[in-house]
Amino acid sequence: MITGKNYIGYQQSAKGNTTYRTINPKLNAENTPTYWEATSEEIEEAMQLAAKAFIPFKQTPGPKRAAFLNTIADEIMALDDLLVETYMSETGLPEGRAKGERGRTVGQLRMFAELIQTEDWRVITIDEAIPDRTPMAKPDIRQMLIPLGPVVVFGASNFPLAYATAGGDTASALAAGCPVVVKSHPMHAGTGELVASAIVKAAKDTGMPQGVFSNLNSSGIEVGQQLVAHAATKAVGFTGSIRGGRALFDIAGQRKEPIPVFAEMGSINPVIITENALQERGDEIASTYANSITLGTGQFCTNPGLILAVDGTNLTHFISDLGAKTAALDAQPMLHPNIHAAYNRNGAAILNEAETTLVAEYNGALQPNYAQAKLVSVAGAAFLNNPSLHQEVFGPFSMVVRCKDEQELLKVIANLEGQLTGTIIAENSDFESLEPLITVLQDRVGRIIFNGVPTGVEVCAAMTHGGPYPASTDSRFTAVGVQAIKRWVRPFSFQDFPKALLPDVLKNH
Ligand code: NAP
Repeated sequence: MITGKNYIGYQQSAKGNTTYRTINPKLNAENTPTYWEATSEEIEEAMQLAAKAFIPFKQTPGPKRAAFLNTIADEIMALDDLLVETYMSETGLPEGRAKGERGRTVGQLRMFAELIQTEDWRVITIDEAIPDRTPMAKPDIRQMLIPLGPVVVFGASNFPLAYATAGGDTASALAAGCPVVVKSHPMHAGTGELVASAIVKAAKDTGMPQGVFSNLNSSGIEVGQQLVAHAATKAVGFTGSIRGGRALFDIAGQRKEPIPVFAEMGSINPVIITENALQERGDEIASTYANSITLGTGQFCTNPGLILAVDGTNLTHFISDLGAKTAALDAQPMLHPNIHAAYNRNGAAILNEAETTLVAEYNGALQPNYAQAKLVSVAGAAFLNNPSLHQEVFGPFSMVVRCKDEQELLKVIANLEGQLTGTIIAENSDFESLEPLITVLQDRVGRIIFNGVPTGVEVCAAMTHGGPYPASTDSRFTAVGVQAIKRWVRPFSFQDFPKALLPDVLKNH
């Protein structure tokens, strides 16, 4: 049952006066439950509990923490239809997507549980002593990764399960041995509370320390700002806009003790199509890309917002084909009215720039909160000279850049801000000439996709979901896959320690 209250450790709490409701974007109506925004006192309580839980939690053996993660997964599945229905009512997304994202969330929890069954993830490094080394004896030094401390997690509005309350950031931080305080996304507070209830039940059932997890409601940015500024917070995980991520990064940098903020932010994900590919299979690429641009109403951080190719008759044909196919797909609701308003505002700003041309847009009737898909085109030189055209329009929107030649295309890529992904669509006959493109693209992105679409992020050990700023605030890390645990740890060395005092994992070598 949804109560609308915060979880402060194991307790539910509603001490404040500020309340809010979520919105069903499909019905354009408020959902019934009322949520209580966390007060400063509740924030303090949650952080104090997290700080207190840190030492016992970090000392909890890996298999026991793994049991905690697996039990969270079981409890999320046990929420069954209530969770799926709440998710749908707070996002306008269909049942298949809700169940798919739930599967991904549960899969991530189990993946991290598997990882911490052994201590290999701690990257044990042993440098044994050489007492008779001259001119100086070499000490015995043993290194392992240890957790940072309490982590504050901000969920994205577009992944209420997989990048939220028990999403990748929370799962990886708990796996590392860090307590987590979640700043619930206001637009899916009900989904967040249900998942929080699953985490709290799992924590109790598996004997985790009180305070290992808290879930705080908020309808504005103040709760998040206070959490990042709190002295007990040792790291932050954020998924959302560049504006939001940067604001939190700056707060963290201005603290007396600066802390890392791992923010995964917006991206326009350039797609480069060679002339040969346009000639050989332009129609097929247009169909694939019309679907990728509009998938999930375009509300993916890996949405293909920018398509680059060398100008010519093949490209002219492709642009009109892609425009017609994109505009012909049924309109879908966006996640909430604010995202919908931002989509309209940011799309209009791009179209107000003199150099851009509207190729096509959905022209059927639109219900409130439903997005009007758009395809826009611009010449390479104009794109290069106008940085405001490089900004993300979050939704079913894409821009084709018509480059005058290969050199201009490479220049456009080199001048892009950092991106999560880049995609190359090419024929076998292009292989010999692709090296300059791959080199310049690799410098701007975290992952290159070959002959595919950027939407759809596989959860696996080799995945890099991150990229040069502003795709993320630290391109050395990934937010998806088991390597995501590395964001919440630091290397630690024991020098000349008696074996009896070493952690078990460092003893038996
Ligand atoms: P958002 O507006 O940045 O909101 C995300 C969270 O951050 C919300 O809880 C929001 O709180 C909070 N927030 C925003 N600005 C803040 C500030 N100045 N100070 C403190 N807290 C702040 O993002 P969104 O609209 O939910 O999500 C869409 C964006 O996320 C897109 O740009 C998309 O590309 C990006 N995204 C990136 C990834 C990735 O993995 N890289 C994945 C998914 C989405 P309030 O709502 O209370 O303001």
